[in-house]
Amino acid sequence: MEDNTSSTDYYQILQCERTASAEELKKSYQRLVLLFHPDKKDEKDSDKLFLLIQKAWSVLRDPNSRRQYDAELTCQEHSELLIYETISLDQMQYDAVEDIYMYTCRCGGTYLLDRSDTMPAKVIIGCDECSFSIEVNS
Ligand SMILES: [Zn+2]
Repeated sequence: MEDNTSSTDYYQILQCERTASAEELKKSYQRLVLLFHPDKKDEKDSDKLFLLIQKAWSVLRDPNSRRQYDAELTCQEHSELLIYETISLDQMQYDAVEDIYMYTCRCGGTYLLDRSDTMPAKVIIGCDECSFSIEVNS
């Protein structure tokens, strides 16, 4: 399900960098909640902002939903990426030794996907040799 808030940058709302640790996000969230709590009626738009902060936190607090959100952000930013192919996860070759999924690029390079990275519904991987990327849907 798409929702129209996906273009909102939750990191901006929480005033954090995308590389922020879970701890940093939490601290920032707690600080903002105190600042914009609806009980403090001194700011007109604080209710709306408070809800946004809650929404941002609900997505970023969970490592899985944060990873998925990061993948969506990356997709939006790299919409100009050269997508070589869109495949599903089962089209990739699974290497049980390395615990990694592999897919060969047309240049002979390889797309690598860590099994731990397969939680998002969709992930973009760059080739290790050329500028092409593939989109993998799990
Ligand atoms: Zn390549």
